[in-house]
Amino acid sequence: MERAMRDLTNEIIELIRRTSTRLPADVEERLRAAIEKEAPGSAARNALETILKNIELSRQKSTPICQDTGTPIFYVHYPEGWSTRALREQIRNAMAEATKRSYMRPNAVDAIYDRNTGNNLGGDDFPYIHFEEVDADQPLVIELMLKGGGCENVGRQYSLPDNELGADRDLAGVRKVVLDAVQKAQGQGCAPGILGVAIGGDRSSSYLKSKEVLFEKIGVRNPDPELAKLEERLTEEANQLGIGPMGFGGQTTVLDTKIVGLSRLPASYFVTVSYMCWAYRRRKMIVRGDQVEYE
Ligand code: SF4
Repeated sequence: MERAMRDLTNEIIELIRRTSTRLPADVEERLRAAIEKEAPGSAARNALETILKNIELSRQKSTPICQDTGTPIFYVHYPEGWSTRALREQIRNAMAEATKRSYMRPNAVDAIYDRNTGNNLGGDDFPYIHFEEVDADQPLVIELMLKGGGCENVGRQYSLPDNELGADRDLAGVRKVVLDAVQKAQGQGCAPGILGVAIGGDRSSSYLKSKEVLFEKIGVRNPDPELAKLEERLTEEANQLGIGPMGFGGQTTVLDTKIVGLSRLPASYFVTVSYMCWAYRRRKMIVRGDQVEYE
């Protein structure tokens, strides 16, 4: 009961600040490596250099990496004994305070009346909070992803077979539709992007899982060797499309691809592509007893 009442609001404000103002090291490393692949003086190289300069400035000044601070998506892995109601309230209070401190731009707009609530709090849906109970001896882990609007707009879902694309209900068909999504996104999702791909599920679970898989670090491969191979192949082939950073042309369109395989009904075969922009903001806080760590 005691730990269920613990107030983590300040720690969650810090999680939000870190997520909004500091790009994770694995993403930054991948962007730095991408620069070397682009020709000196090219628009692609200039775009990547500007991105990296902005990342550095944001870190130094504790300001958001991008003016669009995105949709806040929280995944809370809570051990038995924590109150999810209390945690939800603390997350919502932290979000309102982080917005006041300008770590977040006010982003919650009532879709019916077109009114911005001004504090990043909508109904139960904003911020999005997913709870998952874990064993009692596990730490409390709160993960946060900030998903930009531009990249969200270019996400796509396909129902296979897709006759127009010649995509059947198999991994070859999956490859075709994922490359189609990248081709159609062009630079509008603020490339270079990271692809979260869900195969199967229903329409909603497929979208959900295609985002959830983006909590994994860059380079982490699916344990299924077939899917791992497809992840690498898709990144390589997407980079041959010539779209490049921000759509300026070049070698770097996609930094990584992550695939998750789900169950499906015999009647359906969905493939969902969530596109994450270069501002791939995701962090976590881990609470063990009185200690709080951030990753
Ligand atoms: S898509 Fe990403 S990089 Fe582009 S404006 Fe939105 S948050 Fe910023």
